[in-house]
Amino acid sequence: MKKKIKIMSIQENYHKIKAQIPENVELVAVSKFHPVEKIKEVYDCGQKVFGENKVQELLTKVNELPADIQWHLIGHLQTNKVKFIAPFIDTIQSVDSEKLLLEINKEAAKNNRIIKVLLQVKIAEEETKYGLEIAEAKEIFSNYLEHKYPNIEILGLMGMATFTDNKNQVKSEFLVLKSLFDELSTFRKLETLSMGMSDDFALAIECGSTSVRIGSAIFGVRNY
Ligand SMILES: *Cc1c(COP(=O)(O)O)cnc(C)c1O
Repeated sequence: MKKKIKIMSIQENYHKIKAQIPENVELVAVSKFHPVEKIKEVYDCGQKVFGENKVQELLTKVNELPADIQWHLIGHLQTNKVKFIAPFIDTIQSVDSEKLLLEINKEAAKNNRIIKVLLQVKIAEEETKYGLEIAEAKEIFSNYLEHKYPNIEILGLMGMATFTDNKNQVKSEFLVLKSLFDELSTFRKLETLSMGMSDDFALAIECGSTSVRIGSAIFGVRNY
């Protein structure tokens, strides 16, 4: 007898993932590389927060999708592209330099907005990953407490663990971020610790994540 392989729909995937995430943890559905029709399917399940990693792709999708979607930018952002997203972006999770933060602050002011951001901290071993060093993140946060970026609200931190099967390593990297989060929170309470993706979100939540960014476990594999 042939084995039946059950192909799950995007909506089934979504409900399955959603059921594994505690109520107090936010789910950011990472829709990069997936067409608006698929995003709409997830939206129809009640999901309002979506993450994209490229400005150009985000801009083409925004106009075709409902206006109450809260868009998060989760990929490396070039300063010259900030102006395109400043009018509508909900949260920029990938602030990896002070230069970028200053630009976001400037464009937010032009749009009469306060833009929410997360400081992306480098916790992985891989050289290729973007992110602030811990000392830089602390310095930016202290400037923030001195009101250097009036049109920015720093909600918290974002980090990506090393791409490895070694759970102990991933865990120790998450705990580094959690401990920085707790340290900064003693100066001003932070609300968002964004860590965890399709393969490691359960571990991230154990380590204190308050927001997970999940793509392939909902939408399926990406065709690059
Ligand atoms: C693509 C991406 C994700 C989602 O990854 P999956 O493994 O598909 O869940 C999360 N965070 C960032 C920063 C990403 O670029």
